[in-house]
Amino acid sequence: MPTFDVAVIGGGHNGLVTAGYLAKAGAKVVVLEQRPFVGGACITEEPWPGYRINTFSYVAGLLRPQIVDDLELRKFGYATILYDPQGFVPFPDGRSLLQWMDTEKAVREIAKFSPKDAAAFPKYEEFWEGVLDLVEPMLLAPPVPLSDLVAQFPGAEAEELVRSLFLLSAQDFLDEWFESDEVKISQATSAVIGEMVGPRTPGTAYVLAHHNIGSLEGNRKVWGFSKGGMGRITEAMAASAQHFGAVVRTNARVRKVIVKDGRAAGVALDSGETIEARAVASNVDAQHTYLELAPRDHVPSEVVKEVEKFRSRGAQLKFNARLDGLPKFTCLPETPGPQHHGAIEICPSMESLERAYDEGKYGRFSTHPFIDSEIQSVLDPSMAPPGKHVMTCFVQYAPYELRGTTWDEFKPEAAERILDTYAEYAPNIRDVVKDWQIVSPVDVERTLGMTGGNIFQGNITPDQIFSFRPVLGWAGYRTPIPGLYLCGSAAHPGGGVTGAPGHNAAQVILEDLPKIPR
Ligand SMILES: Cc1cc2nc3c(=O)[nH]c(=O)nc-3n(C[C@H](O)[C@H](O)[C@H](O)COP(=O)(O)OP(=O)(O)OC[C@H]3O[C@@H](n4cnc5c(N)ncnc54)[C@H](O)[C@@H]3O)c2cc1C
Repeated sequence: MPTFDVAVIGGGHNGLVTAGYLAKAGAKVVVLEQRPFVGGACITEEPWPGYRINTFSYVAGLLRPQIVDDLELRKFGYATILYDPQGFVPFPDGRSLLQWMDTEKAVREIAKFSPKDAAAFPKYEEFWEGVLDLVEPMLLAPPVPLSDLVAQFPGAEAEELVRSLFLLSAQDFLDEWFESDEVKISQATSAVIGEMVGPRTPGTAYVLAHHNIGSLEGNRKVWGFSKGGMGRITEAMAASAQHFGAVVRTNARVRKVIVKDGRAAGVALDSGETIEARAVASNVDAQHTYLELAPRDHVPSEVVKEVEKFRSRGAQLKFNARLDGLPKFTCLPETPGPQHHGAIEICPSMESLERAYDEGKYGRFSTHPFIDSEIQSVLDPSMAPPGKHVMTCFVQYAPYELRGTTWDEFKPEAAERILDTYAEYAPNIRDVVKDWQIVSPVDVERTLGMTGGNIFQGNITPDQIFSFRPVLGWAGYRTPIPGLYLCGSAAHPGGGVTGAPGHNAAQVILEDLPKIPR
């Protein structure tokens, strides 16, 4: 009889969520993580003593509240800090826009740019409320086919929703709502984050929707920090899974899924050890699972072809830094101020964002990159020594394959461009940045095994979501090898620290386990 009911390959947040739910339901589970610690893309490290850096993911908000409750994550240290304003966008003409959470305050800010847009904003917020009412229940359930998806929405509204969210570019979508470029750009950056797309790329309205599904401390469509860093989330998930009885092993790289009598029957580790299990759940992306870990002769050739087509292109780098002080913005010089609380968006116009993408799509790092930066230590002093700060910048466009150079060579030049661009709005940035590190898309692939350095384990454009994710016919966590499941972001509803693929995979496995021989 196998020692375990389920072996989970990879201790990213989704693998830990799967393990937590399975163990809570009484299954015997082992998590096998290749790195010395769990967490995958949701970790916090100390590259400089006393400075806690969110190496990869950096803002919380997408994790489904039900998962927090079911796995009792608060008991294991999960806590969040909601920031307000949510965002700050400085402009070259000395104006700026603060995105307050309170609608009346937000409207007053927008009115500085356009009274018409200020009047439209509450309706825009209402539109998203309606979208969330429809979409939220679909996140914690296996994906429905596109045709059924449309049928689930009421009447003509359904077609309108499909038109605007699935077919439009962010530019076209925002043009339908607002007239001011400043107001549009304050919304548009979320439509391109993590994707090699520009605001004029069709389908980017959906990417915007994906980043609007957040829910934190009872507020929808918001972001915040994980207190103590993103790593606290996965530490809590690991502690919860262990509390419910799961075994979590690190430095345990899986080399192969073992298939016996046509069924997944365990895994073989790099060390030579084999672990028998009645089922195997892979938190690793679809390419690695299907093309490397699964024995090739058990994966139908048409599925291999589809997986090879699944796009996974990184578009970003992380510039993480320790600071001696705070950036002082020319447009709002009082420091510290509310502009330092949340997302600082260095991206002055829709055109500048599209132009930054133009360079990226031809294999070049943007001359004026779009920078989404957060200084968590302003609201969370546990992140840095007293009086010091940590800044994390998510920067686009940084193509996985750089034309004429490599990421290892290019990092110093990329840092110069980031600092030059930042200095246009905060001239003291070079004085306060004391050390920096760059995490390129190649680093993301090397460290975590995310193909192409894509942050979502595969792009989340409309052709790669719901029943298309990762391949048509095998979008419901099961794979063509009975007993082998996908439980990571490569499965519905895709990337981000949502926990949703992990939750959904666990439900499917629990449905199947009683039918799997012991
Ligand atoms: C740079 C960056 C910034 C991001 N920013 C945000 C953000 O701010 N907010 C947000 O919500 N999301 C963000 N994301 C996306 C989010 O972090 C990911 O979508 C999510 O964490 C992926 O979780 P996962 O559990 O599905 O997979 P992963 O985190 O990729 O976990 C997979 C795990 O499997 C392990 N593994 C791989 N191969 C093997 C093997 N053969 N054997 C054993 N173990 C193996 C890996 O080491 C890893 O731990 C970001 C991602 C990146 C990379």
